[in-house]
Amino acid sequence: MSGKTLIPWVKQITKAPLLIKRASGSFLFTNDNRKIVDFTAGAMAVNLGHGNNTILSSIIDNTDNGISYLPINGFSTTNRNILSSKILEFVGGNYSKVFYTNGGIDANESADFIAREYHKIVRNGRKKSLALQKSFHGGSTIAGSLMGGDPRRNSKSLHYKLPFFPVIPNPSMTDNGEQSLTFIENQFRIGDISSIILEGSSGTAGCILYPPDYLKQVRNLCDQYDVLLICDEVMSGWCRTGSLFGYQQSSIEPDIITTAKGITSGYAPLGAVILSEKVSSIFDETPFMYGLTYSGHQLSCNIAATCMYIYEHDDFKILKNVNNLSAILKKECDKITDKTSFVRDFRLNGLLGCFELDLSEEQIANLMSDLLDNGVYCLRIRENLFVSPPLTIYEQNMLSAIDIIDYTFEKHR
Ligand code: PLP
Repeated sequence: MSGKTLIPWVKQITKAPLLIKRASGSFLFTNDNRKIVDFTAGAMAVNLGHGNNTILSSIIDNTDNGISYLPINGFSTTNRNILSSKILEFVGGNYSKVFYTNGGIDANESADFIAREYHKIVRNGRKKSLALQKSFHGGSTIAGSLMGGDPRRNSKSLHYKLPFFPVIPNPSMTDNGEQSLTFIENQFRIGDISSIILEGSSGTAGCILYPPDYLKQVRNLCDQYDVLLICDEVMSGWCRTGSLFGYQQSSIEPDIITTAKGITSGYAPLGAVILSEKVSSIFDETPFMYGLTYSGHQLSCNIAATCMYIYEHDDFKILKNVNNLSAILKKECDKITDKTSFVRDFRLNGLLGCFELDLSEEQIANLMSDLLDNGVYCLRIRENLFVSPPLTIYEQNMLSAIDIIDYTFEKHR
């Protein structure tokens, strides 16, 4: 049966997917009763764990009103209003509007379009956007795929040419990001850049940490040259990095923030674009020529409003949990790194981390397969094996998963 579904990113002649019949907390249970730790929270989406009773009961409570879908213009629900207000309260600062999409990539594309509209109205047109060489901003639409520098863009760039330039060298800790910043400034000087998009904290590219003050200096350059700063918080948002959003660790305010994944903890598709007043005000008199059928679908907004409640609960207790667990995860994974010759590095921010492996494709495939047989699922992208469990994972369960990783690595040492 699985052969009839086209699976993203892989050759289709692969093993049949595992059939999952149930999930709870950080565990998945297969049809043949195997218990697997979901050690990358789906795709860093299920921040609040599987089978979360508060979320599940809110879904049931909010469906007996009979609303399936509401027209996007002229109608709303209390939960969508609560959601937008909560998001704006959480980001603080001078943000004034939230635009909803289906997921992360269309949030990023919308942000890019809005930035170009801003420059069309305010600055008489600027038509290029920049991103880091090692970055990912989505893979499902043509424009969004070309925004970031992930090698998976190459198959699209063969067919399509669009004005997205993921050309900025990723900042290095050794020069405190100087080379990267100089490159950005040289590009900005030309005067044709509308926006720069950066993840609040790097994910898919390999959790490449920013030097202290890097984002702050990018913000300064954006102010100096009137380039809009877009922070992509699709993966790094919603407490994943130990702050509500990754960019907040740098005490900056982006002009536009995009997010998805953890906004609903993966229980329904939803993306959001959070606009500063400076940007959103351009649409006070000029129509916003953009839209989609499911902009703020009521099911997704209900779930997201419940997630806001959980994130905020008990004075953002979840953030304390992330920061406690992060320190333990770092210590344990550093130990594994020290004794494993094929691990080049381990990088972590909050609970967003990965091992960088020095293994062949075949060796990584074997390692992954053994890990799964031993009961741990970790997302792997190229040479990076991610460890990013649900933020609600119990310390004991996290330590057990790390043990499994340790002895599975041991077998391959
Ligand atoms: N931006 C970042 C930083 C991501 O990590 C992802 C997906 O992993 C996306 C955007 C794309 O999100 P979606 O798959 O919901 O389109």
